[in-house]
Amino acid sequence: METIAFFDAKPYDKIWFDQLNTEYTLNYFENNLNASTAVLARGCAGVCAFVHDEINAETIEALHAGGCRIIAMRCAGVNNVDAKAAAGRIAIVRVPGYSPHAVAEHTMALLLALNRKVHRAWARTRDFNFSLSGLEGVDLYAKTAGIVGTGRIGRAFAAICRGFGMKVICYDPFPIALEGCRNVSLETLLEQSDVISLHCPLTRQSYHMLDTMAFLKMKRGVFLLNTSRGALVDTEALLHALNSGRVRGAGLDVYEEESELFYEDWSGSIVRDDVLSLLLSKPNVLLTSHQAFLTEEALREIARETLKSFDDFFAGRPLENEVRA
Ligand code: NAD
Repeated sequence: METIAFFDAKPYDKIWFDQLNTEYTLNYFENNLNASTAVLARGCAGVCAFVHDEINAETIEALHAGGCRIIAMRCAGVNNVDAKAAAGRIAIVRVPGYSPHAVAEHTMALLLALNRKVHRAWARTRDFNFSLSGLEGVDLYAKTAGIVGTGRIGRAFAAICRGFGMKVICYDPFPIALEGCRNVSLETLLEQSDVISLHCPLTRQSYHMLDTMAFLKMKRGVFLLNTSRGALVDTEALLHALNSGRVRGAGLDVYEEESELFYEDWSGSIVRDDVLSLLLSKPNVLLTSHQAFLTEEALREIARETLKSFDDFFAGRPLENEVRA
């Protein structure tokens, strides 16, 4: 029986992995995986890691020296993995499509809550404050949603937007024809959208794709949604755009500097991140802690697909979801 070192383990991960696992000894660690904690995986043939683990060349070197032969990322995005450093030594797999609906639905939840100020209304009524002033929103019907990245999640979000009677325009360097949607350049998307939603991976090319110049091209009063990766957006530029009113509201499930903070309770501490503090101080920013994936269906599928990748690897079968350098 092979042993798997499972990093950044949370109770909601363990439920499904424990239920579906029959083959492996799973060593759960609450620690994130990085060059210093890789030693915990010594003697384990496999590692299971997540979005905040730091899987750089040094970590890979340490894992390899400890006998690790496969790293299974239990997520879709793999921007935190140096696949080049792993090539030929450790196989890397991911779970590309566990539930695009989970993320797309959370994206719409952020938009609906932001637009109709549900979070603020909830706080008021709990305090028996039934006034409506300041809670005005807009109809989403007939507004234009601009979707950046028409992969699995972008397509699911496009379908939801169409269900709301919105016009949908899309930008993707590899465009596909989507019923009822129009492919446009990124520039046109920035200029014409009332809602902009990011659904592309973080790469060297997409880093800070929304910078000061991009915000200046946007319509005044646009909603920005980012449930992909924080560093797609230059947060300082977003703060300026929120202050100037260019951005009417931002629904964020991710943040550039989230890896040290998200998934942990810092409520009793002084968090020394002034950019994040400024973001959170704004009534028109709704931030969740990288939870868009968090549905029962997605968690079950992540566990199932990850265990299948381990099965295929240890049985010498081809890997369906291998990440190549
Ligand atoms: P996908 O691979 O199915 O689709 C990504 C699409 O983005 C592709 O069509 C690709 O051509 C396009 N793309 C690549 N570079 C681009 C660019 N510079 N500009 C515009 N489009 C570009 O991926 P997916 O499953 O739809 O996931 C999208 C992203 O969502 C992931 O990369 C991940 O970062 C993020 N994600 C977040 C969560 C969460 O919980 N918040 C969960 C899963 C995935």
